[in-house]
Amino acid sequence: MRSSRHFWATSPSMIPPITTALLAAAIFVADTATDLEIAVAVFYVAVVLLSLNFCRTRGVWLVFAGCVALTVLSFALTRTGSLQSGLINCIISISAIGATTYLALKIESAKAAVHEARAQLAHVARVTTLGELTASIGHEVNQPITGVVTSGNACLRWLSAQPPNLEKAKQAVERMLRDANRASDIIGRIRGLAKRAPPEERKWLSINDVILETLALTRSEIEKSGISLQMQLAEDIPLALADRIQLQQVILNLTINAIEAMSADGPRQLLIRTVRDGTGSAIVAIHDSGGGLEAGKIARLFDAFYTTKREGMGLGLTISRSIVEMHGGRLWAETGTPRGAVFQFTLPIEGKTVA
Ligand code: ADP
Repeated sequence: MRSSRHFWATSPSMIPPITTALLAAAIFVADTATDLEIAVAVFYVAVVLLSLNFCRTRGVWLVFAGCVALTVLSFALTRTGSLQSGLINCIISISAIGATTYLALKIESAKAAVHEARAQLAHVARVTTLGELTASIGHEVNQPITGVVTSGNACLRWLSAQPPNLEKAKQAVERMLRDANRASDIIGRIRGLAKRAPPEERKWLSINDVILETLALTRSEIEKSGISLQMQLAEDIPLALADRIQLQQVILNLTINAIEAMSADGPRQLLIRTVRDGTGSAIVAIHDSGGGLEAGKIARLFDAFYTTKREGMGLGLTISRSIVEMHGGRLWAETGTPRGAVFQFTLPIEGKTVA
């Protein structure tokens, strides 16, 4: 049997508010029932920390106020023990709860800033590459194509004139051929650009590591969208000779597409799998539970500029496929079972195993 690592990186709801309320109630009962010398109220710090899972800043401060009120109430209701020790314990507990609340909120806001920065980085990495490409391809190819259309119209006019002007029509056809060749040269140059993967950029790397590094960029997006992420990474995959940045780009594109496909209501499950296929390749599969793919349109998804998104550029899959093919692999899409889509690619692997 193939060994795999399974873990749920995010679970949509962790400790629910009701459990936190029950904990607060238990602390209150214990604090009231025990002597004033025993500072049970200090455990309210746990209540504050748990409230971070489901409250925003103001809510956490309200929880803090509630814990302070319960601490004071317990102090007033407790009949046994030294009043002086009780007062000192009460002050210590309230200070601990206050300090915990303040520090926890500070840490949370720092974490939010890091998540935001990561999301921006992932977005910028994608948009910069694709945006630059779109702009240049669009501009470069558009000019000769407009030329072809203009000369085509002129040719038609010369041919339908009475009598037809064959010399002028011939010149128009020559201009059409020249422009069409220019467009084809531009596309050839762009292809050459994409194929230019200098050998020194290719290194022996673990595909699982590249997946984990890339997911770190989208983790906050995944968490924010309430998506539960499952990873099944086979541990017996040998190293692949590949360009790390380009592989990251493929995984990032496929992951972002999967996240975007799951933005509607419904189950939000993302599964990323790696396996050895037994023919010298690793397979990376990205399953989502989104709207899925129309069987008749699957082949078109990989066409340049094909997009169904309002802000889409329709280049992510085209570029991803060319990167995978440059590495000697294959990238394809299938409809998921019972729903969603599965994008898979293969990558040739050698006998080297992860150190
Ligand atoms: P873009 O994301 O800019 O639209 P892509 O080339 O990455 O460009 O994707 C092309 C199209 O393929 C998308 O507009 C979408 O219709 C479809 N697609 C890609 N990934 C998925 C997916 N996981 N589920 C459903 N449709 C998808």
